[in-house]
Parts: sequence; structure tokens; C-alpha cells
Amino acid sequence: MNHARQLAHIIPAMNTSDGAGVRLRRSLGSGEGTRLDPFLMLDEFSSVNPGDYIAGFPAHPHRGFETVTYILDGHMRHEDHLGNQGDLKSGGVQWMTAGRGIIHSEMPQQEEGRMRGFQLWINLPAKEKMKPAGYRDIQPSEIPVHTLADGGQVKVIAGHLQSGSVEIAGPINGLSTEALYLDVSLPAGASFMQSTTPGHNAMAYLFEGQVKLEGSDDLLATHSAAILSDGDHARFIAGPEGARFLLLAGRPINEPIVQYGPFVMNTAAEIETAIRDFQSGRLTAA
Ligand code: FE
Repeated sequence: MNHARQLAHIIPAMNTSDGAGVRLRRSLGSGEGTRLDPFLMLDEFSSVNPGDYIAGFPAHPHRGFETVTYILDGHMRHEDHLGNQGDLKSGGVQWMTAGRGIIHSEMPQQEEGRMRGFQLWINLPAKEKMKPAGYRDIQPSEIPVHTLADGGQVKVIAGHLQSGSVEIAGPINGLSTEALYLDVSLPAGASFMQSTTPGHNAMAYLFEGQVKLEGSDDLLATHSAAILSDGDHARFIAGPEGARFLLLAGRPINEPIVQYGPFVMNTAAEIETAIRDFQSGRLTAA
């Protein structure tokens, strides 16, 4: 098979706010039909105005999925009900598996300057939704950076960079969703090819510059989820200002989804249980 993925459709980001009033752009998860199995939601936050981020995300629950927070610029502190604490600084990632339940806060630790990053929600299959909560703080030094021949670079956060004879594993692997999470920076005119498993869903989220896919003259929209068609690879070619984008892919779970805010389960009855467990203080009970 030698089949390049193409642009299938765009999910534009909507301006919204969440937590205690953090302004963000939400593409995946912004409305009906905007998920990309196994991905539930993608938020981008980017501001130099503390009023847009300072209130953070005070204590709140999650059940049934994973959250991945990638900080490009700034400093956030995570605290959870288990007493865990973690500092997320520029270039770092927190990969949290809510599983059965977690109650945590995500609060900015800066009062000025730029705060920029992403939070991605990845669904869990039914058989993993009630597993114990856990998380990993991944320091920038643990994220491999692959330098491309024409000067670009790719950070490998999850899954494997696979490009021709190059294969580099990121710090997160072994998930049943086989999530791929790359941060790709390309100088003007440079290209990048990534092999992708046929049948897995894939998308790019362009947040700087311009980029197009091999075989098309159409530039991808910035700050939008570009959903790709199926194929065994995707090749990106940067425009005259270069480009920076996330490339995400994963194995679809293909199960029913019932979501109520921060609870994502398979049935309405399981959501009712989650709400009851939360109200009675048993969300996180072993
Ligand atoms: Fe959270």
C-alpha cells in the first residue's frame, strides 16, 4: 500500500472558556460530530494576558478517559486527591489517566507572560474506563527531538516517529489506542513524512505558519483540526513562513460514547453512577 492521507474535512476551533474562566480555542469536542475517535477534545490556549488564564482550573473530577497537557510556554501546577503534585513547565507534558476517577486542579504558576499549550482528551475503551487513576509528568528532556535533513524538527511525545528508515519512540507507548502525538516544526518549503497505520484516525492541528498536504495546493487552516483521510502515510509541505503543527493519530475504539462534562462513559446508566459516586465522595474510591 502506498496511499497518502489527504484532507478530509476541517473542524474549526470555537472560542470558549473553561475551568474558572480560561479562554481557549476548542476544535475537537466543540459540538455534535466533532470528535475523532479515540480523541474526544482538543483545546489550545495561548495568551499574553493573565486575565485569560490566571484563574486556572480549580478542583474538578474526571472519569473514563485520559488527558494530555502539553505546555509550550508557561508554568502550571497539578495537584490531585491522592496528594500528588507536579510542575509542568515549558516543553513538558502531563499524561493523566483518569480511569475510575481523579479530582485535580490545574493552576497557572505565573502572574505575567505568555501561557501557551494544548490539552487533548483521549477516550479509554470500556474495559479500561474503571482502572485506577495514574499520571506521568514528562520533562522536556525526556521528549526526543528529531532534526530533519532540511532543518525542521519533530518532538515525539507519544507513539513512534516513523519516517523512511527513521523510527524514534516517544516516552508514551503501549496504550490500547496506540496514540501518536508529534509536534512538528518546519522551515519554509520543508517537508515531513510520517507513516500511519491504515484504519487509524489522524489529524493535524496547525498553529503557526502555513502547511499543505502532498498532492494538494490547499493550505490547511490555522487553529483548526484538519481531519485526514485514511492512508499509510501523510506528507506535509510547509509554506513560505514555515509551519508548526501537532500530528495526532490513534486506533478508533468504536464504542458508544455518553459524555456528561468531565465524565465519559459508554452508557447513560454509567454516567448516572459517575455523578452519584462523585456526589457521595466515591468517585475515586478503590
Ligand atoms: Fe482536568
